[in-house]
Amino acid sequence: MGLFLIIMGVQGAGKGEQARKIQSKYGIPQVSTGDLFRAMRSRTDEFALKITKRMDSGELISDEDTNEIVRQRLSQPDAANGVILDGYPRTPGQAAWLENHLAEQGQKINAVLLLDLNLYDAFRRAFGRVSTSDGTSYNIYTNAESIQWQFSDHPEAAYPPRLDATLKTTGEKLKRRADDASAHAIIKRIDKYLQETQPLIAYYREKGLVQMVDAAQSIEVVSQQIISIIDAAKSR
Ligand code: AMP
Repeated sequence: MGLFLIIMGVQGAGKGEQARKIQSKYGIPQVSTGDLFRAMRSRTDEFALKITKRMDSGELISDEDTNEIVRQRLSQPDAANGVILDGYPRTPGQAAWLENHLAEQGQKINAVLLLDLNLYDAFRRAFGRVSTSDGTSYNIYTNAESIQWQFSDHPEAAYPPRLDATLKTTGEKLKRRADDASAHAIIKRIDKYLQETQPLIAYYREKGLVQMVDAAQSIEVVSQQIISIIDAAKSR
């Protein structure tokens, strides 16, 4: 029996980091449909162009196309013993298809890991995040001892205030991710996540598969709790 997991969580809940830890501990690949679709950007065939255009419009890809991509990915040899799915399923139609598809292979979803973070913390994790050129991350709200920061207003208030942050030791100017720089964009993203996931959480709750982890805890504690959940789910 393989290990098939779904990981969900609002942006900032630490999904990527936890998925990487699961991948290395259990030897199952992380399968992110967003990454699979983004990889199509370098292709010029009609299918890839259609997907890229739709992604750029901010819409979901159809269930049919998404399921087909997942079917192909799950048929790769490295997915034979399981996967950790990230960003999929996103609709009840995808969830139903996945369940069916796994059942045909004698497999099933072992657990749905829900990294729970209150929305104000989710906002602050994204809005307050700044990083050095080597990728070390700081946060003006939660991890700011080594940095100096201030918001500076645009002289004519034509733009929202800009966050200027530097590293105290070297004076390096810290960067923000472009998609984190606007409060509006972050709120929109959080809202979209809620709209997409709420029906799915209800769907998987009914099946008794949802395992909630408090994502406000440290990365290590979250990881330990996830490991306990997976170990228990594996033996079920
Ligand atoms: P993500 O990085 O997961 O936010 O995905 C980026 C984009 O890829 C989304 O805005 C959708 O256009 C598309 N996408 C990713 N996963 C799915 C999915 N499960 N169903 C439909 N569209 C998806």
